[in-house]
Amino acid sequence: LFVGDVDFLKGVVAMDGLPPDDRAEVCFAGRSNVGKSSLINALTGRKGLARASNTPGRTQEINYFKLGSERFLVDLPGYGFANAPVAVVAKWQALLKSYLAGRVSLRRAFVLVDFRHGIKPVDDEIMTLLDRSAVTFQVVLTKADKVKAAEQDAILAQVRERLSKHPAAYPEIVVTSSEKGEGIASLRATIAGLA
Ligand code: GDP
Repeated sequence: LFVGDVDFLKGVVAMDGLPPDDRAEVCFAGRSNVGKSSLINALTGRKGLARASNTPGRTQEINYFKLGSERFLVDLPGYGFANAPVAVVAKWQALLKSYLAGRVSLRRAFVLVDFRHGIKPVDDEIMTLLDRSAVTFQVVLTKADKVKAAEQDAILAQVRERLSKHPAAYPEIVVTSSEKGEGIASLRATIAGLA
């Protein structure tokens, strides 16, 4: 598979900066602090590859990574910063819309959701955008190690209920913990299968 065989390609701030649309790609989206960098690092087996974008005012880049020679892994900027300036949010939404609408080789979007919190309104908005762009998306629950087994079913039910309203949702939910390694191999296999 692609463990270790991964390289940062470039950070993109506008559509004309995208690399050629010449191979299968998957993208990762999620609220800031959802655990996206940790998950990408766990998946690729490269610590420090993806870095958390902690500053809301900072340039919001789409980060491209090469997975082996046949795929791109795309790290979308985190969304839902509490105090993000309106202009930053608007610019990000515009870039995201063009990206989702225009990327022919995009096979699947993985929408990361903190298992403790379930699907928030801002996640729902992204999912609606994915519906409208006809991009299949799959929910990846993060930080499973932080949720007691007894609490998991109720949250899973909330997530399933929300997903039932999204035509572009892939029904299977992936449960992960980057900390414990749970679900990582299975997600890796899913990506490898999206040729
Ligand atoms: P990002 O902003 O979405 O890239 O989030 P990060 O990957 O930087 O993670 C945000 C915080 O959550 C950090 O403090 C991580 O250590 C923590 N975190 C990420 N994944 C996990 C996990 O699977 N389990 C636990 N317990 N903490 C996690």
